[in-house]
Amino acid sequence: MRNCDETRQWLDAYLDNELDPVNTLEIEQHLQTCPACSQAYEELRALGAALSTVPRYPTPAALRERIHSALLGEASAEAQTIPFAPAARPSWRWVTALAAMLVLGAMLAGALLFSRHQPADPNQMLAREVIASHIRSLMVSHLADVASTDQHTVKPWFDGKLNFAPPVVDFARNGFPLVGGRLDYLTDGPIAAVVYRRDKHVINLFVRPATGTEQGKFPKTASRQGYNCLSWIQAGTRYWAVSDLTPAELQQFMEIVRRSTPS
Ligand SMILES: [Zn+2]
Repeated sequence: MRNCDETRQWLDAYLDNELDPVNTLEIEQHLQTCPACSQAYEELRALGAALSTVPRYPTPAALRERIHSALLGEASAEAQTIPFAPAARPSWRWVTALAAMLVLGAMLAGALLFSRHQPADPNQMLAREVIASHIRSLMVSHLADVASTDQHTVKPWFDGKLNFAPPVVDFARNGFPLVGGRLDYLTDGPIAAVVYRRDKHVINLFVRPATGTEQGKFPKTASRQGYNCLSWIQAGTRYWAVSDLTPAELQQFMEIVRRSTPS
């Protein structure tokens, strides 16, 4: 079952029919039971309908002529300098489309400014970011900037790259061998990613100093797109473990990391 924040984040995609069947069903179920989200959805749909009926104003003939000749001048100048430039014959459609886009942009900006904007839970935002970062690290095969199973190689690699020293310990004897380290960036600054493996599964352990604004109950769990995230704070440091391991396995990993770090 989805909560309101998650539902709101996916409403746009839902409206555009971009979600897979499972997510679509979950959103639909939530909308049926939640009047607030249901209203937000209706407003979004109304806005979309309004935007699709924005009138296209005809361009005054004189202005049209001037832009047209300017474009033709540019096109012929281009044709002279670039031997194989296509014979550009600027169409009116794109000028009209540009004007329509400007109108749409202004309307959207207005709609966003005046919508009752609820700030999302910072913890959820962070969980989303670290999960996205985890997925990125798997997709672009850029798991590690420094690939080594030796903590004495990985730990010094972070020196001078961050204004904090992330703890780097190899947990091979606990079944979580060290793979390497990576420097990543969240919207609020750089973060260390210490990479581990459990069999074929990759675990990104994101580490940075805890900020004063982080509050609530820890550990926090989140899951998205099949990945689980477990976050905790220990000795002034905030950790996020992200993996496709089960929550129970991540919990086990967290306990191992916790035991290795002095509180
Ligand atoms: Zn809701």
